[in-house]
Amino acid sequence: MNAVILKKGRESSLYRNHPWVFSGAIQELKGNPVSGETVDVLSFKNEFLAKGSYSPKSQMTVRVLSFDKNEIIDENFFYQKIKSAKMKKELLMDEFSNSYRVIFGESDGLPGLIIDKYNHVLVCQFLSAGAEYWKEIIVQQLINIFNPVCIYERSDADVRKKEGLGLIKQSLYGELKNEVIEILENGCKYFVDVINGHKTGFYLDQKVNRALVGNYAENKNILNCFSYTGGFSITALNNGAVSVTNIDSSSNALKLLLKNCELNNISSGKIINVQGNVFNILREYVNEGKKFDVIILDPPKLVESAGQLTKGARAYKDLNMTAFKLLNENGILFTFSCSGLLSAELFQKIVFDASADAKINAQIIGRMSQSPDHGVSLNFPEAWYLKGLVCRV
Ligand code: SAH
Repeated sequence: MNAVILKKGRESSLYRNHPWVFSGAIQELKGNPVSGETVDVLSFKNEFLAKGSYSPKSQMTVRVLSFDKNEIIDENFFYQKIKSAKMKKELLMDEFSNSYRVIFGESDGLPGLIIDKYNHVLVCQFLSAGAEYWKEIIVQQLINIFNPVCIYERSDADVRKKEGLGLIKQSLYGELKNEVIEILENGCKYFVDVINGHKTGFYLDQKVNRALVGNYAENKNILNCFSYTGGFSITALNNGAVSVTNIDSSSNALKLLLKNCELNNISSGKIINVQGNVFNILREYVNEGKKFDVIILDPPKLVESAGQLTKGARAYKDLNMTAFKLLNENGILFTFSCSGLLSAELFQKIVFDASADAKINAQIIGRMSQSPDHGVSLNFPEAWYLKGLVCRV
């Protein structure tokens, strides 16, 4: 039997159903499991704690699949997990959206696996040795459950290197009929480039927050920083915004943003696209005396590791400070951090410091998080990464 035996005292997180076993917690490896194979996790007294996928190259040696000794990890296990996630996520959906995150890794009981559904296409990321090991089985269950047009793999995320896995981008089933897929979110249409876009193609985690921005958009002049393909911009314009200025460093993202305007019959006269570095452009706007009614700040992860916390915090503060200076009286700032390592409490402090430095009084009138299809299991709080504040000047 393949098993890892933990050091004395290292079993307590497993008693609390936490799904990660780090290499430093392991006393002994029994058997000869290959990368991704299922192993039992035993306490120093040889008591069963969990079973999970073995990852010899990673710091995270085992990711737990089940805490039940009698549960068999096989095709049916994956079928049930995916089927149940689909049912739960569909309860969150309405006729105004056709896309959602089917599997959000550990939170949906399948560590290292991300599956997004874009209309009739599924896009997967197999980010751990275990997810990679079960790939064929998982794809078969997805075909059985969803009958999709195509299953596309976007395993080109750097985290795979930590698992000793290469980067892959390929179709696993069927074919993409068009270069981009058309999806519906909150009644807005979007093109998603699942082959060349970021991550799996679209930031589904912002769905609820886009709807919220829509509520504040009527008759407003809006600045959307880190716009990507215009998720927030299209929602705002479909809800009566007068104009949206978009800033992003990616020219491809801005091109697709223009196509998204066309798709929604939005006049291109309402859009100003600026390709460049948000940090610099905001400073130029302050010097030029520009003002906006609503500003959205949705930067990429600025804190990638604990060591980057101070540097990242400074970058968040800098961004928020310049944004505050660009807001009209009563203007509203939607400000986000997707850095899991930066707590919501610290983020609020940073935004406060930014307002103080900008000499602006502002009030928090709303708090934001990731959309409910990215739900966070209580036993796995690490899954909460996206937080945001709605601040009114
Ligand atoms: N708000 C977007 C998602 C933003 S993702 C949405 O709703 O879909 C972050 C975006 O920031 C990416 O499109 C990336 O190209 C862009 N980006 C990263 N660093 C940047 C910088 N310094 N200046 C401008 N854009 C940047």
